[in-house]
Amino acid sequence: MDTPTNRPPREVDLRIDARWIIPVEPDGVLERHALVADEGRIVALCPQHEADAAFTARTRVACDDHVLIPGLVNAHTHAAMTLLRGIADDVPLETWLERNIWPLEARFVGAEFVRDGAALAVAEMLRGGVTCFNDMYFFPDATADVCDAAGIRAMLGMPVLDFATAWAADADACLQRGFEARDLWKHSPLIVFALAPHAPYTVSDRTWEKIVTYARQLDLPIQTHVGETQRELAQSLEKSGETPLARLDRLGATGPGFIAIHCVHVDAAGIGLLAGQGCHVVHCPASNMKLASGIAPVAAMLDRGVNVALGTDGAASNNRLDVFSEMRLAGLLAKVVAGDASALPAAALLRMATLGGARALGLEGSIGSLAGGKAADAVAVRLGDLETLPVFDPRSHLVHAAGREHVSDVWVAGRRVVEHGALITLDRGAVAARARSWQSRLR
Ligand SMILES: [Zn+2]
Repeated sequence: MDTPTNRPPREVDLRIDARWIIPVEPDGVLERHALVADEGRIVALCPQHEADAAFTARTRVACDDHVLIPGLVNAHTHAAMTLLRGIADDVPLETWLERNIWPLEARFVGAEFVRDGAALAVAEMLRGGVTCFNDMYFFPDATADVCDAAGIRAMLGMPVLDFATAWAADADACLQRGFEARDLWKHSPLIVFALAPHAPYTVSDRTWEKIVTYARQLDLPIQTHVGETQRELAQSLEKSGETPLARLDRLGATGPGFIAIHCVHVDAAGIGLLAGQGCHVVHCPASNMKLASGIAPVAAMLDRGVNVALGTDGAASNNRLDVFSEMRLAGLLAKVVAGDASALPAAALLRMATLGGARALGLEGSIGSLAGGKAADAVAVRLGDLETLPVFDPRSHLVHAAGREHVSDVWVAGRRVVEHGALITLDRGAVAARARSWQSRLR
């Protein structure tokens, strides 16, 4: 009889034994299982004694006090803006953008700024268990360089704005430069691109129409900030008599490849539109709270079947790229808004931070859960510290007791990029030195 036990063991690249493994799909917690990977992909998730008989691993890692989870997906950020962390706090979005961020960007942003800022962001995210992020920023080619070297997965938005920026003179120039960056990286296994019109209020109908044409022709997702503030909603109603979402629907932008970032100010009709067209929402609770934009109606969106992912937004409005803290904030906010302690339980939050993000980016076939055939993007989180003992349900701990400081090891496509908390692919000292140098220049 041909069973795994009497065949010679298969030689594979990697085996990770963990006290608990949470595959995310199917829901549940596996005890004393092993994740087995070869050539970057998961080949088995099985009890450790079965792995003993079936596989010989070239690298074997024991995570005896840890929970192993899929890599976290930060579904919205502006990585390079990490260099602006804490430079303008305690102001609302419009003031923050118009008086602080845009003037600074006009003076300082270039390929060097983006490379150094993205490296700082990627270092922070990898150490915090983020293995994939969805970015929107100028010079995406410079961010791609950093991602490739660091071995992190990314969707890079090609930013489009109608006015002149450090990146391009107008919307057409934005698109041209964005496509040039995409062409350079089209064969990368870790990097994909999306069209990233900044927001309904910074992009005209004519430009939106061009973006929609490109998206349909090239099968590219569209990501944009939408429904972020009350002022955005009021101005849109005054200008065109439509909500921002209704306008984007009229222009053909919405649909299954549409990633709606924020959606704080959406009404029942807007939620119906998002659900009916299979759009994705990225919930950024910390940024929305810090800029006093409001609270997105996440429970209502989930009830209607909308896929919701989690994002940090940029470090200039958060000020951390910490998906653990976004999970916890999203859960606490949902409970207090609904007046219902059962709203958004830990398993649902972990799902939003992994598979929800993967779906939003159109990558659910390869990441977002620990399953055979998917990429070996995994994170080991230590649960043996005093502040995480005892452990009754590791899912609860991931959201409510543990944090990114408990991340010990991180793999992307089977490659270890963080080992016992230390970065393997980035030079921590060099990244810090560049950040300090920008601190002097930006002051
Ligand atoms: Zn943003």
